[in-house]
Amino acid sequence: MPKEVKRHCPYCKTHTVHKIEIVKTAGRRKTSSLKAGTRYRKKKLEKGYGSSPYPLIEHGRKHGAKAVRKICLKFICTQCGKAHLIKRAQRFKRFELVSQ
Ligand SMILES: [Zn+2]
Repeated sequence: MPKEVKRHCPYCKTHTVHKIEIVKTAGRRKTSSLKAGTRYRKKKLEKGYGSSPYPLIEHGRKHGAKAVRKICLKFICTQCGKAHLIKRAQRFKRFELVSQ
């Protein structure tokens, strides 16, 4: 993927050159998966067992790290300096920004 792309800017209402940035979603995912109710239910379930009542393999350790990730892109207009996001995150196995 090139670092700069000509795109339509919704603020300038014309096609201008945009810089591309990757939006980091790792922190957001962490907070959403550990809601207060879920944490409480897990604690209640684990009471009476040594640790988790389920075998360790079932906790997603079978497959290792994920190969395909969802990457969200941010487009920054060089004319007005405003940024807008792509509406749907796309899945990529490998993603690189290359300057041309
Ligand atoms: Zn603009």
